[in-house]
Amino acid sequence: MNQPYLPAKKSLGQNFLKSKKALSQMIRATNVTEHDLVIEIGPGKGALTRPLLETGARVIAFELDKRMIDYLQTDLSEYIKSGQLALIHQDVLEIDMADFFGKFEAYKLIANIPYYITNAIIRKFLETKYQPTNMCLLVQKEVAERIVFRDGKQSLLALAVAVYGDAKYIAKVDRKYFSPNPKVHSAIIHIGNISTKKIGNEKRQKLFFEIIRAGFAHKRKKTIRNLEKIADKKIWTEIFAELEIDENTRAEKLDLNKWLNILGLFEQKT
Ligand code: SAM
Repeated sequence: MNQPYLPAKKSLGQNFLKSKKALSQMIRATNVTEHDLVIEIGPGKGALTRPLLETGARVIAFELDKRMIDYLQTDLSEYIKSGQLALIHQDVLEIDMADFFGKFEAYKLIANIPYYITNAIIRKFLETKYQPTNMCLLVQKEVAERIVFRDGKQSLLALAVAVYGDAKYIAKVDRKYFSPNPKVHSAIIHIGNISTKKIGNEKRQKLFFEIIRAGFAHKRKKTIRNLEKIADKKIWTEIFAELEIDENTRAEKLDLNKWLNILGLFEQKT
């Protein structure tokens, strides 16, 4: 079908992907097969949706722009009729996870998402009981590097990802492969082996995030000073001494294992 003229809405982060190579890299990284249920966020004009459907997988796609929904309803009508594709006109950030995902045994998540909701989407799909088995995202290149390589520096987002899964950098996607061209380059990342095994139950997850959020609150302050917001300095001094962490260490220098050890000792002492 000839594509109707649907001007990109900047406010919805619409940069449509033109690279066939990047599309197939995303599908391959997610290891999509005909047996899978795939949730796609922001199908747009279906650049990723169509090749996903061609694998035989079932796809449910959330899209906020009604014009795209109308377009896809015609363009992908055969898949909708056969029940392989369902389009949902909704803000993905507003989905009730238990309500929607509680009924599925397993699903994979794939998305070329608007950059301003990258953080919110990653956290929404990881910090929940209803996690996907794995996810593949196209994100701003710098964000991908911050999550995967970390370059000797931790961030809240990198820790939030590492505590639930294994992040891998798949490939850079040059800005010229999008229409309209964004200002920045992008990269595909894959987060595999998603589970709560490393961290445990919801109560523990909550405490973990409370601790790391406090630890990172003021970048220029030492971690211990930041953590005083949660408990007395004495407790943190003891914990740091037991773990042989220098008291002057800044939060970005502590890796996931250190934070998990800090959490463990804090639980014991309080
Ligand atoms: N998947 C298409 C592609 O690769 O060409 C479009 C990608 S475009 C970067 C992002 C898409 O997400 C747009 O179609 C936009 O309308 C949609 N979108 C933006 N915010 C959304 C939200 N909160 N929930 C669901 N979809 C959203």
